[in-house]
Amino acid sequence: MTLLTVEDLEAGYETGQVLFGVDLDVDDGELVSLLGRNGAGKTTTLRSIAGAAEPTVLGGDITFDDKRLTGTAPYSIAKEGLSFVPEARRCFPRLTVTENIRLAVNHAEDPKDIETVLDFFPELSEMREKQARNMSGGEQQMLAIARALAANPRLMLLDEPFEGLAPYIVRRIEDIIAEINSEQGIAVLLVEQNVAAAVAVADRHYILDEGRIVESVSTAKLRENEEMRQRYLGV
Ligand code: ATP
Repeated sequence: MTLLTVEDLEAGYETGQVLFGVDLDVDDGELVSLLGRNGAGKTTTLRSIAGAAEPTVLGGDITFDDKRLTGTAPYSIAKEGLSFVPEARRCFPRLTVTENIRLAVNHAEDPKDIETVLDFFPELSEMREKQARNMSGGEQQMLAIARALAANPRLMLLDEPFEGLAPYIVRRIEDIIAEINSEQGIAVLLVEQNVAAAVAVADRHYILDEGRIVESVSTAKLRENEEMRQRYLGV
């Protein structure tokens, strides 16, 4: 069953249009990546889906679980079961691990129990009283994902979850994302520039180039097609 459908999405900023008709969909329980070079419009696509204040959606339709999301406020979108983990993992720096997760729980319609969330992240469980600002980048990324998980979503949107992380933490975050998907059945749409990491976790990939989806490929096809990787991803 299709959970998220984006049709002919056009969006942009005061400085100009960035998306020129993006089409993509994510099935219930699927793990999909959206790849593309710097500035291709990946973050703009995710923020449009999440209903963020910017960009401005200029046209097209976003449908989640058969409900039209276009023009809906972010908190209503979250209540429908869509969690967004923005780039640069915005945790509250002066709040502890527990406090950060509790805030997410308090704002959710049908949250998970805080202990259930912490059970999933042994690392975080061991540093419950630590302030986010004193945690490493990888730990903060885990916390950002834990907050999104606490809202008990059906679809998680992740914006560059591996950015700036050491290779061994990248592998740990890959495992966490794969487990969230396979064990909890949560669909994931992740935006990445790290093609290797995206290929390691996702089943299917969209390639965005200059505000348009130019390819929709399986992991196997992306792995074997060097020309495609070179042309659109520079790797
Ligand atoms: P990146 O990895 O650099 O984030 P991206 O594919 O996610 O790449 P976007 O962040 O969606 O790309 O940016 C697409 C275009 O929109 C770029 O040209 C960028 O400069 C522009 N842009 C992004 N955010 C804003 C903003 N808040 N105001 C104006 N222009 C923006």
